[in-house]
Amino acid sequence: MKRVMVVGCSAYMNTGYGCPGEWRCLKAAALGEGKFDEPSAVIGFVKCECPGRNLVSNIGMSVKLSELKPDLVYLSSCLVNSKPGCPYISPDEMAKMIEGKFGVPVVLGTHDYH
Ligand code: SF4
Repeated sequence: MKRVMVVGCSAYMNTGYGCPGEWRCLKAAALGEGKFDEPSAVIGFVKCECPGRNLVSNIGMSVKLSELKPDLVYLSSCLVNSKPGCPYISPDEMAKMIEGKFGVPVVLGTHDYH
């Protein structure tokens, strides 16, 4: 079973618009649905917070404290598909930043639930 980390957009999660981070990513990971090709263990759920400066350090802290490095990092569907999009960084740029820092592949999106 893969170990995965999910990154959510707090501009969505904290306001409850579209993706309050309550079940969708977790269900998709548990069942191997959406962008998960098999049931996966979510070992970290990290929030990006505007303007995104905390993201790399929060991922690093999650890895350090849990002593678990994920096999894959998923940018949540709320983060990747938000309209209007993030004004600070594109999902592709964010993925490159995470891959460059941690050497872990990044998947854009998590689920297709509504
Ligand atoms: S910087 Fe962008 S992705 Fe991060 S919380 Fe703010 S709007 Fe969401």
